[in-house]
Amino acid sequence: MPEPLFSQLLNAVEQAISDNADEVTELDRVIGDGDHIINLQRGLAALKVIENDFLNLEWSEALMKVGTTLMSTMGGASGSLFGTLFISMAKEARGQKLDSTTFSAIFYQGVESVKNRGKAEIGEKTMLDTLIPVANCLKESIANEIEFKQLLKNLSEQAHAGMSSTKGMIATKGRASYLGERAIGHIDAGARSSQLMICAITEVLSQQTDLC
Ligand code: ADP
Ligand code: MG
Repeated sequence: MPEPLFSQLLNAVEQAISDNADEVTELDRVIGDGDHIINLQRGLAALKVIENDFLNLEWSEALMKVGTTLMSTMGGASGSLFGTLFISMAKEARGQKLDSTTFSAIFYQGVESVKNRGKAEIGEKTMLDTLIPVANCLKESIANEIEFKQLLKNLSEQAHAGMSSTKGMIATKGRASYLGERAIGHIDAGARSSQLMICAITEVLSQQTDLC
């Protein structure tokens, strides 16, 4: 039997994070406190322990379980922000059929909730510099009926571009904001981990022939 999609996605995300753990830790060490990957891995490990619980959950319930698990286990600014992303998506998803149009609207709303929670916008050198362009691209691509594989490619390109854009920025939110101009020249850890996770997800989805 093929591995359930949730486990495939979780394993791919975990792998991408552990493959790049040293690099991301160093990013957070230079302009933060170095715990970002440890926080993230704690959350992912907690999801791994309960992965079988996801087998029979309706998608809004699954999103809620991801969000509350991350929120209660991760810690750090990113724990509450990633938790908020999924909890907000879960609330929006309630009673809705899962398809690409509803998913794009729900992800967009989830990112809006992260913006509200962190009181941050694009250009402040945070995970939002990855998440906002991806949410915009997803919404526009679905509205323009872009073919599925092309859509996934566009999302991963937007995630990369958004992550890279943080290098030249001054941080105005989070720990890196204490550094002023000294933060310039370093990529934001949360922008990099968000890009890694999004690219891991688009890679798994691009291999799902039944979703094309
Ligand atoms: P902490 O900063 O508490 O040590 P983490 O290291 O886990 O938490 O996460 C840091 C990441 O969280 C940053 O790299 C940044 O991407 C993100 N972040 C911090 N503050 C905000 C905020 N106000 N809005 C959006 N993202 C933020
Ligand atoms: Mg940190």
